[in-house]
Amino acid sequence: MKTIGHFVDGKRVAGKSGRTKDIFNPNTGAVQAKVSMATTAELDAAVASAAKAQVIWAKTNPQKRSRVLFAYKQLVEANMDDLAHMLSSEHGKVVADSRGDVMRGVDVIEFACGVPHAQKGEHTYGAGPEIDVYSLRKPLGVVAGITPFNFPAMIPMWMFGMAISTGNACILKPSEKDPSVPMRLVELFAEAGGPVGLLQCINGDKEIVDAICDHETIKAVSFVGSSDIAQYVYARATANGKRAQCMGGAKNHGIIMPDANMDQAVKDILGAAYGSAGERCMALPVVVPVGEGTAERFLEKMLPAIEAMKIGVSEDPEADYGPVVSAVHRDSINANVTKAVKEGATLVVDGRDFSLQGYEEGFFVGPSLLDHVTPDMETYQDEIFGPVLQIVRADTFEDALKLPSEHQYGNGVAIFTQNGRAAREFADRVEVGMVGINVPIPVPVAYHSFGGWKRSAFGAANQYGMEGLRFYTKVKTITQRWPEGETDDSAFIIPTF
Ligand code: NAD
Repeated sequence: MKTIGHFVDGKRVAGKSGRTKDIFNPNTGAVQAKVSMATTAELDAAVASAAKAQVIWAKTNPQKRSRVLFAYKQLVEANMDDLAHMLSSEHGKVVADSRGDVMRGVDVIEFACGVPHAQKGEHTYGAGPEIDVYSLRKPLGVVAGITPFNFPAMIPMWMFGMAISTGNACILKPSEKDPSVPMRLVELFAEAGGPVGLLQCINGDKEIVDAICDHETIKAVSFVGSSDIAQYVYARATANGKRAQCMGGAKNHGIIMPDANMDQAVKDILGAAYGSAGERCMALPVVVPVGEGTAERFLEKMLPAIEAMKIGVSEDPEADYGPVVSAVHRDSINANVTKAVKEGATLVVDGRDFSLQGYEEGFFVGPSLLDHVTPDMETYQDEIFGPVLQIVRADTFEDALKLPSEHQYGNGVAIFTQNGRAAREFADRVEVGMVGINVPIPVPVAYHSFGGWKRSAFGAANQYGMEGLRFYTKVKTITQRWPEGETDDSAFIIPTF
C-alpha cells in the first residue's frame, strides 16, 4: 500500500519516523493509503532548506516572482481534473464540488500574481527639510500553514499563495485525513518553476504542529481547523513570539424574514446546509424563520426538496453530496442528532440510518432536519459539521438578530429578505464576521478577505486579500535626508518638522 511521505528540497521523500496514519476512501470505507507522521528532525531539515530558498526569493524582483505564480496558476488549472478526482477520493465531496475547492484556491493565486502592486509600499517626498520617508513591506522569512481536511485545495492556496507572493518561504502541514491534494499542489509549484525548498509539505499530527509552533526559525503560523485547536495553536505560537492567525469552527445562521422569496431561500439553504455533507465552515446548519407562519411555509417547500436530494458516491455526477470524511465523524454526527432529540428538538427528517446500496461500508449520512431547536440546547451551541439542519424559530427581527450575535461562533451569517432597509440594519448590527444578504455562503472573493469573529478566529488578521498581505509582511520605515553641508538642528531635541 502506498505511503505518502513529505515534499522537501524539491522532491517527494519518504518519512523516516515509521509512524503512519490511514487514509480512507470515504465512499467504500476502505483504507487506500497511509501517510507518514514527520518527526521534529524532519521538520528541522525542511525549515533549514526553506530558509536558504527564502533569502534568494526575497531578493528576486517582484515581477519575476509573479511570473512563477502565473505559471503555477496555469499548471493548477491544467491539472484541475486530476486534482478534483484525487480530492474527492480522500475527502468524499462530489467531483464538481472538488473543482470548486481547487478553483477558489486558484482565485487567491490569481490575486497573489498582482501582489507586486499591493506591496509597493508608501513614500513621502519632502516630509521635512530635504527629508523623505518611505515604508516597505518586508517578508517575514519562513512561515507555516496548518490546514483542515474540509478544503484540502483552497485553504492551502489561501496560505501559501499569499506567503510566497510576498517573499516568504512556506511549510505546509495539511490534514492527515486527505493529504494527497496538498502534496500535489506543492509539487506542482516546483514543476511551475518555484525555487527548490521555497514551498514544502510536511505531513504529521499534533507532534509536528507543536514543533511548528515552537520552531525558532518559523516566524508566523496560519491555522484553520476546529476552535479548541485553533485557540491552542494561537496561544502556543504567540507565546513563542510568532504572528498567528487561527481560524476555528462555525455555526452559521440563515435568517428568513417573512417577506423572503421562499423558493429561492429554500434552494439556497438546501445547498448551503447539505452541500459537501455539511462539512463547510461556511455551511448554514441553522435556519431562523422569523414571524408567524414563516417556519411552516419554509417546511412546506423544504421537505420535498430534501426528499428529492440524491446522496451518492463522490464520482456520481447526479449526487448532491457524498460521504463524510471518516467513520468517527459519521458516528459523531449521528450521535448529535440523537442528543438533539433527547434535548427536546423535533426530528422531522432522520438521516441516521441512511445506507447507500453497494457502498454499505462507506461513511454516508442521510440529511436530518430538526425543528423547535432552542438556544439552550448543546446541539445548537456546538458545531455538528454534518448534513443536519436545525430550525430555531424567532418571533421578531430583534430575536433573530440576537441568535447569531450571541452564539459562541461568528463566522458567517445570511439573511433572506426583500427589504433592503432590514438587510442593511442586520448587516450593520450582527456580531458576525462575514454576512450574506440573499447570499447563503458569503465566502469573500480573493481581493477582499476571509475571517470570522469570536471563537471562529483567533488573532487580528484575516486570510488572503490585503489582510493576508499584511499578515505575511512587516513594515520597515526609512527616514532619510541628504542635506547639503551641516544642519543646525540641536542633537538633543526630538526632531520636529
Ligand atoms: P482539526 O482541528 O481536527 O484539524 C486541523 C489541523 O489541526 C489539522 O492539520 C490537524 O492535523 C491539526 N490537529 C489536529 N489535532 C490537533 C491537536 N490536538 N493539536 C495540534 N494540532 C492538531 O479540524 P478538521 O476536522 O480537519 O477541520 C474541520 C474544522 O475546521 C471545523 O471545525 C471547521 O469549522 C473548521 N474550519 C474552519 C474554517 C474557517 O475558516 N473558520 C475553514 C474550514 C474549516
